[in-house]
Amino acid sequence: MVDLKGQYEKIKERVDSSIMNVIETTAFVNGPEVHQFQKELEEYLDVKHVIPCANGTDALQIAMMGLGLKPGDEVITADFTFAATVEVIALLQLTPVLVDVDPINFNIDVEAIKKAITPNTKAIVPVHLFGLAANMDEIMAIAKEHNLYVIEDNAQGIGADYTSKDGTKRKTGTIGHVSSTSFFPSKNLGCYGDGGAIFTNDDDLAHIIRGIVNHGMYVRYHHDVVGVNSRLDSIQAAVLRVKLPHLDNYNTARKKAAQKYSDAFKEHKNIITPTGCGKCSETSFANCNCHVFHQYTLKVVDADRDALVNHLNEKGIPCGVYYPIPLHLQKAYKDERYKEEDFVVTNQLIKEVISLPMHTELDDEQIDYITETVIKFVAK
Ligand SMILES: *Cc1c(COP(=O)(O)O)cnc(C)c1O
Repeated sequence: MVDLKGQYEKIKERVDSSIMNVIETTAFVNGPEVHQFQKELEEYLDVKHVIPCANGTDALQIAMMGLGLKPGDEVITADFTFAATVEVIALLQLTPVLVDVDPINFNIDVEAIKKAITPNTKAIVPVHLFGLAANMDEIMAIAKEHNLYVIEDNAQGIGADYTSKDGTKRKTGTIGHVSSTSFFPSKNLGCYGDGGAIFTNDDDLAHIIRGIVNHGMYVRYHHDVVGVNSRLDSIQAAVLRVKLPHLDNYNTARKKAAQKYSDAFKEHKNIITPTGCGKCSETSFANCNCHVFHQYTLKVVDADRDALVNHLNEKGIPCGVYYPIPLHLQKAYKDERYKEEDFVVTNQLIKEVISLPMHTELDDEQIDYITETVIKFVAK
């Protein structure tokens, strides 16, 4: 699904010397590399504060702690996403409110958010799923009307642009009150272990969060709030500093591969290819940066998706089903509040989606082999 080795070979010299430099200076924790990376990411994103931490799940949890959410507060998020989002809501004893997603772009359904709001709702967590920016104009408008926080889960969307109705363009993760991201190796900006970060433009919130990641300390050995220990280590920051200048090129390579896939599948009615934000052309991603293709996810209709998965595996083609079970049906998150008729889209998507190999090193020959194999099996 990913080719981390091929990508590493191209930047090997810089990566190796940066890692050696950390080892030689022994500044393993909170070293200058972490601070430099933080500054460089702030500049890239055009956001006031980046607070590095240990992983993307911690980033979400710390963002929610920073906002002062209290047990019983309701947090609305998508039913069709990775479990980390709902997991931290539950861990903090907040009440997760899962809602359905849009059948075309897979992101949280704005109408479903509106329906789910109660007097206890405190926050909305949109996920820029598979790398496509969620509908932030609408989500921010709902949040403003109901006085809610917006926490963007940007683990899959780093580098994507969101263009507002008024034409302003901003990076995903810089629009809500606070955001989280992950530097897990397979993410669009991945390190060589675990890593994550929180972003915000709010000075006071950034200050609170900087204490939370460090045991609730604002002055050494004075613990003002209950915090956690969540750090990005210097070796990971050194790797990320080498990779950040390549991020736009990496995302362009993903977009090109996505375009080639989509062009090949164009004529086939039962293979539904991913769409962009709607402000871009439906069939060309070239001039829009709304989608950074963390995953390239198809819907196959009137065909046996599971048989296709087996077939691709037999042909030596990796593929994935993200996600095979809706969160509201997961054992850990089941709740009698949920009604099946409120999850029509997710319940359908889990039967139809399939994600093809997507990374920065895909070549034309590989894509041709993959698309031909898929088409031969399912196309009508
Ligand atoms: C990867 C991911 C996370 C969690 O990141 P980790 O660094 O693995 O903890 C959270 N949310 C989404 C949507 C993700 O894809």
